[in-house]
Amino acid sequence: MKLLYTNDDQLLVGHIRNVVESAGFDVCLKNEILSSAAGGGASPLDVWVEVWVVHDNDYGEAMKVVENTLSADDGQEWECSNCKEPNGASFMLCWNCQVEKPQIQNSLMI
Ligand SMILES: [Zn+2]
Repeated sequence: MKLLYTNDDQLLVGHIRNVVESAGFDVCLKNEILSSAAGGGASPLDVWVEVWVVHDNDYGEAMKVVENTLSADDGQEWECSNCKEPNGASFMLCWNCQVEKPQIQNSLMI
């Protein structure tokens, strides 16, 4: 197992996990339970959720998927129709609320 990605934003980490997993790689999350245990004695901010790739051989390819996902350079960002958060072009679901990416709006329809 190799550590693929970690961030203090567990929603983003969860999104990365989904993208990498849907690309066909075996991944697992670490620290997910601890991070969701807010309100306890320990600060959840101390623990970042981690995405691990199960097979070391997959690491290089899986990291490319992560980089492509995090990079907004290869397309247009889109704004979530539900929560108005900006999403990178490669995001098929809103990182914040998991609403699906809207279809490209056709100005001719106005
Ligand atoms: Zn959203």
